Amino acid sequence: MRKNIVAGNWKMNNDLAETQELIGDLKLQLVKEPTAEVYVAPSFVNLYNTFQSLKGTAIKVAAQNMHFAENGAYTGEVSGKMLQSVGVQTVILGHSERRALFNETDEMLSKKVNAALMHEMKVIFCFGEELKDRKSEGHFEVVKSQLENGIFHIDRAAWKNVILAYEPVWAIGTGETASPEQAQEMHEFIRGLVSDKFGEEIAEDVSILYGGSVKPDNAREIFAKADVDGGLIGGASLKAIDFLTIVNSFD
Ligand code: PEP
Repeated sequence: MRKNIVAGNWKMNNDLAETQELIGDLKLQLVKEPTAEVYVAPSFVNLYNTFQSLKGTAIKVAAQNMHFAENGAYTGEVSGKMLQSVGVQTVILGHSERRALFNETDEMLSKKVNAALMHEMKVIFCFGEELKDRKSEGHFEVVKSQLENGIFHIDRAAWKNVILAYEPVWAIGTGETASPEQAQEMHEFIRGLVSDKFGEEIAEDVSILYGGSVKPDNAREIFAKADVDGGLIGGASLKAIDFLTIVNSFD
């Protein structure tokens, strides 16, 4: 049975004091047993203190990125082994900002996926089309190719550690959301692709999150769709009350 999941991507926001303040607010307002699995993804420098501060709560910590190598001459990078050493077991890979601003290719992402899964880390794998792709009705093809080239090479057994996150680039940080119907249509397509390649059981078990301007006032409608199993939340994850309202938006 797949899980409902909500993950907050804090991006390059919040210094140490602001991170601690947000965590304090989350802890104050979090219901003990949320109906969804909850993650927050602070910046690298705040991973350890976030992990320590959230110990004993229902909120898990994810990194926003990692390198595919174990260690070595990769100035400025962080490995999966390092993440695990500070308690982090989950990593977001393939976010559209990493793809667009830091030139991450499907090939690099497939190596990162391998490295994370080799460490038995959970991967939140992001993908999604740009506005031009949707306008030209190429969105299904783009998504298919990102999945095939970035993550469809993994073993069947590794799927237990994979969460998929469909994030149409035109909806990220823009205030423009895919309609619940557009999200459902794409999620159903994605689950079908997983089913064709890996079988129905894996397809039914994998959680597929939607990301792109999810807010407290639209989350419930989007999460109600059959193949939408939660969300990856950017802007609205920076305010505890908004984030927790989204976490509690499952019927
Ligand atoms: C994101 O960055 O993954 C995202 C979905 O951002 P926002 O919610 O701000 O659109």
